[in-house]
Amino acid sequence: MSSTPLYRAFGIRDYQVVRTASSKAGLTLHLRQGAARDRCSACQSVNVIRHGTVERTIRTLPVGGQSVDLCLPVPRLGCRDCGLVRQAAIRFARPFRRLTHALERYALDLLGHMTIQAVAEHLKVGWDAIKDLFKCRLQARFGQPKLKRLKRIAIDEISVGHGHRYLTVVLDLNTGAVVFIGQGKGADALNPFWKRLRAAHAKIHAVATDMSPAYLFAVRENLPKAVHVFDHFHVVKLFNERLSDFRRDLQREAEGPPGKTVLKGTRWLILKNPENLDEARGERTRLEEALRINQPLATAYYMKEEFRHFWEQDNLKDATRFLDDWCRRAEASKLSVLQKTASSFQMHRTGLLNYHRCPISTGPLQGVNNKIKTLQRQAYGYRDQEFFHLRIYSIHRAKYELVG
Ligand SMILES: [Zn+2]
Repeated sequence: MSSTPLYRAFGIRDYQVVRTASSKAGLTLHLRQGAARDRCSACQSVNVIRHGTVERTIRTLPVGGQSVDLCLPVPRLGCRDCGLVRQAAIRFARPFRRLTHALERYALDLLGHMTIQAVAEHLKVGWDAIKDLFKCRLQARFGQPKLKRLKRIAIDEISVGHGHRYLTVVLDLNTGAVVFIGQGKGADALNPFWKRLRAAHAKIHAVATDMSPAYLFAVRENLPKAVHVFDHFHVVKLFNERLSDFRRDLQREAEGPPGKTVLKGTRWLILKNPENLDEARGERTRLEEALRINQPLATAYYMKEEFRHFWEQDNLKDATRFLDDWCRRAEASKLSVLQKTASSFQMHRTGLLNYHRCPISTGPLQGVNNKIKTLQRQAYGYRDQEFFHLRIYSIHRAKYELVG
């Protein structure tokens, strides 16, 4: 084989095949460099002298399902200008890499469609080599999320893996990109983020979080000028939990049938949005029956349903009026569940009303959370935590399925 087929097949110039060896493992092409001028790989100087050669084997694109290795002597060059002895650069592979540029490019292409395992098998390369390649690519593109242009963010903690492992994730609500991943949950997990934010001179306009005191204080301290919005999904969830406890207490207190039987199994019906009730299964009838027989439950239920309209108010003024009116009626109901909720709403009044200054939520983070769960279900377990985090940073750019 002269140099031309080598160029046609693998894009390699300036080398000739001197010998071909074939085995079960695949094909090995022994190459010899043509008359190229030796250059220092560090400073490009031609003022070099040879210090022997090193044999390198570099894998390139497979041919006919067979792996192809390129085996070539690489001169060690002593440079008179920079005083170092180095291997000469190879044009078709990166220094210290065992894969050619062509194979790396092809593997990266395939990673958009296939798992790491599948790419490794298809290209007859080790899993680790493909993973390292992927990691390098992600590192280059997502290793340092840019914070300077951040305007609106959502912060939430997500549970990962088994046991109680948490990550605190910050999402850019304008681009959908994850911009920070902190270990654990609570205020401490965010400390490195605030530091980077200050360094980047970012001007955050709005933040969405749940109502936990940790976020309340952290945002107040680190972003005093930002509009802090309490996420409505979390507010509804909290209200639902309280209502669920209230129903359970009522069921416990109910003296025998019929009250007990009617309340039994109504937990999910109470938590469901009314428009999602399944008519065919008689869910609406059962809920109505339970509410008819139990006045306090009915009051609490309708007050909860009504509060959902808080987020549909047209403007801040209407929303303020709505909130005050709702809290007043909740107080007057004499039901502890409503009074308790009204007082937490009053306490978090600003954060609730802020939704009408800037209508954001942590909703988009839920989507990210689901994608992270998909990533984790893949069998690799992500022992390499840095790699796992890089995958999360790149999650919004995953073009196809979330593969390997
Ligand atoms: Zn040099």
